[in-house]
Amino acid sequence: MDEISKRTFLAAGLAATLPLSAPSLEARAAESGRKLGYAILGLGYYATQIIMPRFAECEHSKLVALVSGTPEKLTKFGEQYGIPESHRYSYETFDRIADNPDVDIVYVITPNSLHRVFTERAAKAGKHVMCEKPMATTSADAEAMIAACKKAGRKLMIGYRSRFQAHNIEAIKLAREGAFGPVRTVTTDHGFTIGDPTQWRLKRALSGGGSLMDIGIYSLNAARYLTGEEPVAVNAMESTDRSDIRFKEVEDIISFQLLFPSGAVANCFSTYSTNFNRYRVSGPKGWVELEPATSYQGQTMRAQLNRQTGPREPAAQPKNQFSAQLDHLSECILTGREPIVPGEEGLKDMRLIEAVYRAAREGRTVKV
Ligand code: NDP
Repeated sequence: MDEISKRTFLAAGLAATLPLSAPSLEARAAESGRKLGYAILGLGYYATQIIMPRFAECEHSKLVALVSGTPEKLTKFGEQYGIPESHRYSYETFDRIADNPDVDIVYVITPNSLHRVFTERAAKAGKHVMCEKPMATTSADAEAMIAACKKAGRKLMIGYRSRFQAHNIEAIKLAREGAFGPVRTVTTDHGFTIGDPTQWRLKRALSGGGSLMDIGIYSLNAARYLTGEEPVAVNAMESTDRSDIRFKEVEDIISFQLLFPSGAVANCFSTYSTNFNRYRVSGPKGWVELEPATSYQGQTMRAQLNRQTGPREPAAQPKNQFSAQLDHLSECILTGREPIVPGEEGLKDMRLIEAVYRAAREGRTVKV
């Protein structure tokens, strides 16, 4: 199905169901042993190769439904994961998921500009939503997604998996504990060399922007979770070779600086034309660095603490980052808590992404 057809179907927004009433505390307690059912929407690389295999290690989550615009994928992955035909949906039939009590959560893993409409349709169908990063392509869309889930009485969580990854958890803990004194600087670089010039990541209508939307958001989000602060000012500079066929619509390199209220500064890189994935957070008494920092696996950590410099092993976490992320939303639903990375967290990044683009475009510091 082409982009236009998909969008037409998306706009259809067929079934309107009232939000279900919240379960009582007793019901939640009785349910606490059960696994919540996820529908995966958008059967691309991240969904099928990275996320779906990880349900096997989940305690509170299971894969129960699939939503796709490609019938062959519904057959292939339906058979592979034992999903009955009654639980396989196209984008046209998706709204009928409202009538499927096995589905508690819809996990939206499509190109960025489609996150909003699928989140709204899932909420309208009475389902909780996990949505991939970047949450949307504009802060206005992100606000609408939060409002839709609030109106439906359903939770919205953004797929910031690094918050569930052992090395990142350790780095945040050290920074918060003041292990190297107050945080003064964060340096963080994220990029990869993008290939196929026809892919959606390079089409503005689907991606919303270039490397910053896709990979630079890891630098931005890490600067925020390492300092534990919200930036008050942003500087940025962009460099894109517009004669390169890949970069007709979106940016390649964007470097940006964030100033935090404490006086800490983050220096961040984002690119589609070189490979790196790392950060260092430092204070007067030392630092901690991760490389790779936010990849799917293979994180390594070094630190300078108490005048000793060397490798450091983080405290073990009970689950890998993907299963922990999936289970976190299920646990929040079962216990009535808010996710640590709710829609509001995605919205903060969206507003800052807009500020970074504005700072680069206007060549000035943007106050936020
Ligand atoms: P892919 O291109 O591999 O998959 C996207 C899927 O979305 C497609 O396979 C298709 O599935 C569906 N889709 C629906 N409409 C369209 C359309 N108009 N054009 C193209 N695809 C469409 O992308 P990724 O899996 O790499 O990325 C998907 C999302 O996940 C993005 O938001 C990305 O930022 C995020 N992501 C997050 C990662 C993380 O580590 N947290 C890592 C990688 C991606 P179907 O055929 O089933 O309809």
